[in-house]
Amino acid sequence: MNKLVLELMRRHYPDVRPLVKREPCIWINNRTVKNGWLLNHFDVEDARARLEAFAPFLERAFPQEVKASKGIIESPLVEIPKMKEELNKVFGTDLRGRLMIKLDSHLPISGSVKARGGIYEVLKYAEDIAIKEGLIKEGEILQDYGRFFSDEFKKVFSKYKVAVGSTGNLGLSIGIISAALGFDATVHMSSDARAWKKDKLRSLGVKVVEYEDDYGKACEEGRKQASEDPKCHFVDDEASLDLFLGYAVAGKRLRIQLETSGISVDKNHPLFVYIPCGVGGAPGGIAYGIKQEYGEHAHIFFVEPVDAPAMTLGLMTQLHNKISVQDIGLSGLTHADGLAVSRPSALVGEIMNNMLNGALTVKDEDLYIYLAKLYEQEKLLIEPSACAAIGSPWNIEDCDEYLLRESLMKKLDKATHIVWATGGNMVPKNEMRQYLETGKKLMSGKTLNELE
Ligand SMILES: *Cc1c(COP(=O)(O)O)cnc(C)c1O
Repeated sequence: MNKLVLELMRRHYPDVRPLVKREPCIWINNRTVKNGWLLNHFDVEDARARLEAFAPFLERAFPQEVKASKGIIESPLVEIPKMKEELNKVFGTDLRGRLMIKLDSHLPISGSVKARGGIYEVLKYAEDIAIKEGLIKEGEILQDYGRFFSDEFKKVFSKYKVAVGSTGNLGLSIGIISAALGFDATVHMSSDARAWKKDKLRSLGVKVVEYEDDYGKACEEGRKQASEDPKCHFVDDEASLDLFLGYAVAGKRLRIQLETSGISVDKNHPLFVYIPCGVGGAPGGIAYGIKQEYGEHAHIFFVEPVDAPAMTLGLMTQLHNKISVQDIGLSGLTHADGLAVSRPSALVGEIMNNMLNGALTVKDEDLYIYLAKLYEQEKLLIEPSACAAIGSPWNIEDCDEYLLRESLMKKLDKATHIVWATGGNMVPKNEMRQYLETGKKLMSGKTLNELE
């Protein structure tokens, strides 16, 4: 460890210590403010309108996926009472309030949370090109983009490139939507990305470039190659505002779903949302969108693997992307491949600094156990990364420090807890079967080390 890190460790020792020891922990953000967020600073409404304009295009390009929803990419929000009962037994305490799951694992088109931000960013780029090339005129902006589904548009887009660095799901989303629009797409992937994702992309005519190093390297190389080509758009997971805005549209959509289900969120009915976090874009955007709707009545927590708590470490130390999990002796390697990130997004870290309520870490073993239990109890299949937040409601309900500070003790019976399931629907059956097997073995007391 270098000198800077040693000094940091001294300064933030009580906070950083459990991270260094790989112990599951809760970090409460003491920098939250009730006013003065960067809310309304970024135009989420504009992103929402753009997705609506593109809905007729999506309906034509992906009829099987989004015909029923008229081209809107959204996922169900459902209550999971059996899972709640099961986890009450595991944790030895009854969770108060309602437990729900947000099934972004089942988002149409690409089966993960990346179908929000990733698809949005490529659509936005397509619009920019269409304007630049004169395919749409001044008065036609944000009006019925169904005609993007045409050979005329495709022919123009084929002269342009889209590139992305990805641990997997972002690459899938970008690749699928880029291919549908006609872009020449390249996905730069770390070698630990799942083979089926690479196969799927190649089958769509997307170029896949693999890197031995971790995700950060894949991203860096992709960014460099793209920067040398003016006709290439690089989707920058670590710094893209468009990605962030695409994710943020989830906030208003969630409000509508809650209202439709007759669920209140206000001073006396707190909302708790727990979201798996990698580089931070997806959970950050979603958190931003939800805070715009509910402000301080929404309590939002990110959840990361004990081996890759990049965002938590960055926020704790205020060093954001200037510190990596390797700097405190962690590997950054985790079975949660969607969360295997060593440094957080600086953009998101800054926005979340005064907004996010806290973060938790979780062991890889628990991901598989939650995965198997969720299938057993609710017949829902999601991927390991997406399971990170499932036990978090119990952890927070046990965190007196937070509940007292926020005067929540007496309101918990009226609380709604939402765990965000971020991916899984595109995982091949045989792969999913292995995840379930692993979960069952771990439930009987084995460790991942013993299984490997
Ligand atoms: C990408 C991803 C996340 C986290 O999103 P970030 O923007 O990297 O923080 C969580 N779960 C799954 C399944 C993902 O693919």
